[in-house]
Amino acid sequence: MSDHDMAASGPGEPSQIEAAAEALASRVKGRLIRPGDADYEAARHVYNALHDRYPALIVQPAETADVVATLAAARTTGLPLAVRGGGHSVAGYATCDGGLVLDLAALNDCRVDPEARTLRAGGGATWADLNRAAAAFGLATPGGIVSTTGIAGLTLGGGLGYLNRRFGLACDNLFAADVVTADGECLSCRKDDHTELFWALRGGGGNFGVVTAFEYRLHEVPDILGGPTFYPLDGEVIRRYVARIFEAPEPLGALLAITRGPPLPFLPEAWHGRPMVAVLSCWSGPEAEDARVGEWLADLGEVVGQALRRMPYPVINTLFDELLPPGLHHYWKGCFSGAPTDEAIAVHLDFGERLPSAETATLLFPLDGACGRVASDATAFAYRDAAFATALGPSWADPADSERNIAWGRDYYRALRPHTDDGGYVNFMADDDGHRVADNYRQHYDRLARLKARVDPGNLFRLNHNIPPAERVD
Ligand SMILES: Cc1cc2nc3c(=O)[nH]c(=O)nc-3n(C[C@H](O)[C@H](O)[C@H](O)COP(=O)(O)OP(=O)(O)OC[C@H]3O[C@@H](n4cnc5c(N)ncnc54)[C@H](O)[C@@H]3O)c2cc1C
Repeated sequence: MSDHDMAASGPGEPSQIEAAAEALASRVKGRLIRPGDADYEAARHVYNALHDRYPALIVQPAETADVVATLAAARTTGLPLAVRGGGHSVAGYATCDGGLVLDLAALNDCRVDPEARTLRAGGGATWADLNRAAAAFGLATPGGIVSTTGIAGLTLGGGLGYLNRRFGLACDNLFAADVVTADGECLSCRKDDHTELFWALRGGGGNFGVVTAFEYRLHEVPDILGGPTFYPLDGEVIRRYVARIFEAPEPLGALLAITRGPPLPFLPEAWHGRPMVAVLSCWSGPEAEDARVGEWLADLGEVVGQALRRMPYPVINTLFDELLPPGLHHYWKGCFSGAPTDEAIAVHLDFGERLPSAETATLLFPLDGACGRVASDATAFAYRDAAFATALGPSWADPADSERNIAWGRDYYRALRPHTDDGGYVNFMADDDGHRVADNYRQHYDRLARLKARVDPGNLFRLNHNIPPAERVD
């Protein structure tokens, strides 16, 4: 089978599946799970119920050699290969029908070097694993706002969260990565070793290899002041937030959300279920300045409810875990933009009034501070000049509501499009956004495609927001 045929192949034939199963059975120290096995149902599911797929083989490696064996089986049989870190891919790329799933969940060990302030994490760790390990030493690194998300997909796409303004994106804090390439080579990548690959891993997604270990710089982050502040859905609140966030001290991580008021005691009952603006804040500066943070939030508009308190940093990243359990459906759209204009705010208000479910949220992540100071060509993340990354995030429980939620997300994106840049954050993209990948990587796209042609010419790693190999490599 030629490289091109391999990239185009769909679900595997029985003979391919048997060949892979036979090759793996004697080589894998971890687990090999097949349809009919007791654990198959649990193992086949990913976080996003919109992608209900039936892989032919699921490999749960116990060590790097298992990863090498799995890639060899995928290569030689031509079976489609899905690589799974935390399994949160909005687009459903951590699973497939009739192919191989490489589920790294067991590689989740996190080791901290408190002297050097670094952390080495397995490629299947979640932010809960990493945050817990780092917090034991009063340390942290920027990560996502839901603790069950994998460090792998989130870091490889860039990495947005509460600490970006102060310490940069998750990928900006990555200083080394162990990678198994498509041909089974095990590489240790860092700034001066496999430099180009290391550049691509910081924003280029899962296109270039399986990362079995990530190494991050850590920062001193003692307890933080954090939690949501809820306001009525009012354009003036959004306008003030947008005007003031870039003036705020960088230890203030503050995301703007448009979502329904949750049925929680800190919010008066009359607001439960009503569309609202929420500012999700995480102040990692001195405790002595907590009151000023409270004033900053109070000054944005009429505070209807607030759950602000001091907490260990890992806790703030668990606040939405319960609202977003595994098994919901997610269809998100992502975009980058400058500061929203009045016209863009009018679109947010219009769609905010018609939120299709209790779990749905629009989220604005500010990209200033340490994140905006990184040179535009220092990593593959291509939107250092954007003011905000926005997620338009329909999430819902009942499959009968899929059409309505998906239509809302698509219409919202279309209405907002005149007010955004061309590309969006790969990690907030649905599976029908493949045509936007070149825009997501802008000036970096050709460079990434040339590297892809060198390290994965057969496009073995194609279940992702795919960067196909360049046809010509000069
Ligand atoms: C509830 C929820 C909350 C989120 N919150 C945030 C947030 O706060 N900030 C943010 O930036 N994003 C956020 N995201 C988006 C998130 O970054 C992406 O969904 C990301 O892909 C998840 O990574 P994962 O490892 O869990 O996913 P997976 O589905 O396991 O993988 C995602 C992609 O990465 C590839 N991949 C996974 N592991 C590896 C590996 N070890 N080596 C190479 N490739 C690999 C996969 O093949 C796939 O293409 C959120 C998503 C959800 C569903």
